[in-house]
Amino acid sequence: MQETIVLGAGMVGVSIAYHLAERGHSVTLVDRRAPGQETSFGNAGLIQREAVRPHPFPRDLANMWRVLPNRSIDIRYRAGAMFSAAEPLLQYWRNSAPEAFAKIVPEYASLIVHCTAEHERMFIAAGAQDLIRKDGWLQIFRTASVFEAEQAHAADIHERFGVEYEVLDREALHRLEPNLGDAIIGAIHWTNSWSVSDPGALVQAYARAFEARGGRVLQAEAQDLVETAAGWRLDTDQGPIDGANVVLATGPWSNHWLAKLGYDMPLFHMRGYHMHYEAADGATLHYAFLDHEKGYLLSPKRAGLRLTTGAELNTLEAPPRTGQLEAAEAEVRTIFPLGSRREPNAWKGARPCMGDMKPVIGPAPGRDNLWLAFGHGHQGFTLGPITGRVVGEMMAGETPTVDMTPFRADRFS
Ligand SMILES: Cc1cc2nc3c(=O)[nH]c(=O)nc-3n(C[C@H](O)[C@H](O)[C@H](O)COP(=O)(O)OP(=O)(O)OC[C@H]3O[C@@H](n4cnc5c(N)ncnc54)[C@H](O)[C@@H]3O)c2cc1C
Repeated sequence: MQETIVLGAGMVGVSIAYHLAERGHSVTLVDRRAPGQETSFGNAGLIQREAVRPHPFPRDLANMWRVLPNRSIDIRYRAGAMFSAAEPLLQYWRNSAPEAFAKIVPEYASLIVHCTAEHERMFIAAGAQDLIRKDGWLQIFRTASVFEAEQAHAADIHERFGVEYEVLDREALHRLEPNLGDAIIGAIHWTNSWSVSDPGALVQAYARAFEARGGRVLQAEAQDLVETAAGWRLDTDQGPIDGANVVLATGPWSNHWLAKLGYDMPLFHMRGYHMHYEAADGATLHYAFLDHEKGYLLSPKRAGLRLTTGAELNTLEAPPRTGQLEAAEAEVRTIFPLGSRREPNAWKGARPCMGDMKPVIGPAPGRDNLWLAFGHGHQGFTLGPITGRVVGEMMAGETPTVDMTPFRADRFS
């Protein structure tokens, strides 16, 4: 039986550990916290079958002027952090140009198209169906020209990638969400995407399914990774663990491990915040909605109405800057009767993003039995289970379900 260590118990690491246990590996899943307590806990909980286009930087002048004063809700930056991540940011900027972006979309989509089917296999195995809703989510609009442009995109991705949607005018939207204000003129309802009422609980359910297949969860801080004659040794604050194989699924913390191993890959962080709220005046919200022209997302969760912010370009360690959340909250209050906050402090996390917008999934260049799976950016919660499947297939020497060439780590060599 192959002894395999998976470091990182977010959605990505837990899904990999589950698939490896299914294939008969003896797996130890290591995390300093219990499974699903970091980025995979605090996200918006959408399983985004519609997300076949990653998120480019704005490159048109109007949008650049809009973002520059650093007061917009969808994207903010800290100048110092821009310097420290200059190379990956520059790559992301170049890849946001129309020609480069057009090449990335079908590659990204090749993973996304599997997201719901792969989650479904896992949540049935985990008995976690009660956490999933399959009735989609809403992208809402305020301006006719923007709404029309996004409908054209929707028609395109329906045609090319099987994304399902319905266009709702103001009246149709009002029938679904009677408490949304009149500033909203309509919505695109993404009907084959799903939502999760408690993202952290779903990761924990997947971790329990992994343990039921013989896997072991070890709560420990990993400190070093050393190549040995028999494979690898992971030094932790609970002692060393030996394995024939190691998978690094350390999400936003992956730069630390890349530096230790001598790799240079363009990973940077798009931080985000969340806060839960009451609904005021007996208002109800059935669907998650993205306020497209403002750039925040509000979704009904077990813990309350979860408001999540767009991107903050900042270092992982910098202290929280909650202006973006406050601006988003003020904006929601203009279109929905939001009540009081449910927590004293905002949750903060970081999307692990690569300069070419695609995750790294595959063997570590120049090393045996070391595998990398990180950099899933805005869609790591969506992409965990398909990542688990393809890593299992590649480690067994099988042809993976998806052509993994675009995601190989040696593309940066
Ligand atoms: C505001 C926001 C909203 C989002 N909304 C969505 C959404 O709706 N849908 C979607 O698909 N994605 C969404 N995302 C993105 C998604 O959350 C991430 O891409 C995903 O959670 C990354 O998962 P991961 O397993 O790679 O990382 P993580 O969940 O962060 O897991 C990495 C783990 O590694 C562990 N670790 C790191 N270093 C060590 C060490 N030295 N020792 C021990 N353990 C270690 C950490 O403790 C952590 O648990 C959102 C992100 C944000 C910030």
